[in-house]
Amino acid sequence: MQRERMTPDQQAEYQAALQSALDAGAQVLKEGGSALDAVKAAITPMEDDPRFNAGRGSVFTWEGANEMDAALMDGATRKAGAVTGVRTIRHPILLADAVMQDGRHVFLSGLGAEEFANGAGLDRAGPDWFATPRRKDALERLKAEQLSALDVDYKYGTVGAVVRDSHGNLAAGTSTGGLTGKRWGRIGDAPIIGAGTYADNRSCAVSATGAGEYFIRVGVAQEICTRLRLSEDPVSNAQTIADDVMAEVKGLGGTGGVILVTPTGQTIYSFNTQGMYRGRANSDGLNEVAIFKD
Ligand code: ASP
Repeated sequence: MQRERMTPDQQAEYQAALQSALDAGAQVLKEGGSALDAVKAAITPMEDDPRFNAGRGSVFTWEGANEMDAALMDGATRKAGAVTGVRTIRHPILLADAVMQDGRHVFLSGLGAEEFANGAGLDRAGPDWFATPRRKDALERLKAEQLSALDVDYKYGTVGAVVRDSHGNLAAGTSTGGLTGKRWGRIGDAPIIGAGTYADNRSCAVSATGAGEYFIRVGVAQEICTRLRLSEDPVSNAQTIADDVMAEVKGLGGTGGVILVTPTGQTIYSFNTQGMYRGRANSDGLNEVAIFKD
C-alpha cells in the first residue's frame, strides 16, 4: 500500500468507510452490547463495501471465482467459528458466527459450509454480487504480467475487528477474499484460529492481514496472545510483543499487520507495510482512522 498510488479522493473514501465501520461497532458497545456483536457490526458493512477484500469486492481466485474465508472468536469462552472457500454467503463473518453458535465444529469448508449455511438463515448472493471490475482487473494483470499476488494493486483490504466490551470480554473477527489468483483450494491465515484470528480474555484479541502463509507459519494471533499472557507486565509490553511477532513475520519474508485489544482496553496496531487501513475508538473519546504509517 503506497501513498503515491492513492488519490486524495480514494483516501477520503476509505477513511469514511473505516469510520462508519468503527461507528457501527461503537454503537453496539454504547448500548451495552457484547464484544462479539460489536465485531460483527463493524465487519458486515465492510463485507458489503466493494472497496474491501471481503464479501462484495473479494479478490478473484485463479479460476475467476470469489471464495471467501472468515473467523470469529469469543475471548470469554474461547469458542470459535470459521469458514473457508464459501462463494454464496453475503456476510461470511455471520456464517463463522453461526458455526460458533452451533458449537459442534469450529471450521467448515466449501460446499459443506454452504450446506450448513442453508440451515442458518443467512443472506445469500450470486457471483455477480461479489465480483467487482477492479478485482477482476487485478486477476487479469496478475496472469498477463506474471505478477505474484503480492504485486498486484489493492492486494490488501482484508477486514477485521477486535473489541473489548463493558463487561471486559474480548472478541476478534476477520473476513477476507484471500489473495488474488489463489488456487488449489488455498486457505489463508484469516480463518485459521491462532493464525489470523484469536481472542482470549486473559491476554488479547487479534486480527491480522497480510501474506497469510507467513502468518500461518508464525501462528501470529495466538503467538501474540500467548506472549502477552505469560508476560510479567503485559500492559507495558503489549506494543513490543506485537512488534516482535510482526518482526518474525518480516524475518521470514512476510508483510502485513495486526490489530489488537487487551483486557485493559489498550488498542494496538503493528504492521511492517507502508500502510494499513485501520481505526480505533473507545469510551474515553479516542476516535481515529488512518491509512499510512505516519
Ligand atoms: N491474510 C489474507 C490471506 O492471506 C489476505 C490479506 O490479508 O490481504 O488470505
